[in-house]
Amino acid sequence: MLPKAGASGPSFPDFEEAEEAPVGGLRERPEAGGGERNRRYTQMSERNRCRFCREKVTRVDYKDVLTLQKLCTSQGRIFPRKRSGNCAAHQRMVKKAIKQARYIGLLSYTV
Ligand SMILES: [Zn+2]
Repeated sequence: MLPKAGASGPSFPDFEEAEEAPVGGLRERPEAGGGERNRRYTQMSERNRCRFCREKVTRVDYKDVLTLQKLCTSQGRIFPRKRSGNCAAHQRMVKKAIKQARYIGLLSYTV
């Protein structure tokens, strides 16, 4: 790796060393200061998987307006997967169900 770089070789290790040092320092600080925070976050992320997977739902009902409303913003937009926490398969089902519910007038397209 390094011999191929040639002239720019010496500058790279310096840069890496300079970059690694602060990162390591930053990593140590949260562990020492907010260790509980990290633990809480990991627990939450494990628990907050897809809500439909938790309930073992195989099909999202378009007539279940209360559930679908929770997955929409107040303006009627569908929450992204990152926000809703759904898995890809269930997010696709939700997308379809919300669009069906909109079509028959159970949900609004916009507010
Ligand atoms: Zn799921």
